[in-house]
Amino acid sequence: MECLFCSIAKQTIPADIIYQDDDVIAFHDIAPQAPNHFLVIPKKHITTINDLEPEDASLFGKLAITAKQIATAQGIADNGYRLVMNCNEDGGQTVYHIHLHVLGGRKLQWPPG
Ligand code: AMP
Ligand code: ZN
Repeated sequence: MECLFCSIAKQTIPADIIYQDDDVIAFHDIAPQAPNHFLVIPKKHITTINDLEPEDASLFGKLAITAKQIATAQGIADNGYRLVMNCNEDGGQTVYHIHLHVLGGRKLQWPPG
């Protein structure tokens, strides 16, 4: 079976897409943990942060730039928001295609559980 987020990137599985270009796609999280909760992923399959290579540096940076642009468009940038990327089991990763969580719209707790 193909990777879930590769299928979303190829639009063979539907998602509530906010933005996309040749490199990245952003869509609403299906189980939002905050009033604003979306994911930014590379269209290229990268399984975990541990699989990043030096040549992915610009693509990885683009995830953050895209997150910031959407957060600004959603009006949460000034109040603030959180970027999270979970890695492997202890990090809480459940979908093995890297994704940047963007959470905002409420005061978030720290530290996370
Ligand atoms: P993580 O636990 O960091 O791997 O996060 C995976 C995230 O993907 C969770 O927040 C899920 O709610 C979200 N998710 C899983 N399936 C979908 C889907 N089909 N569309 C949108 N978000 C999803
Ligand atoms: Zn994938």
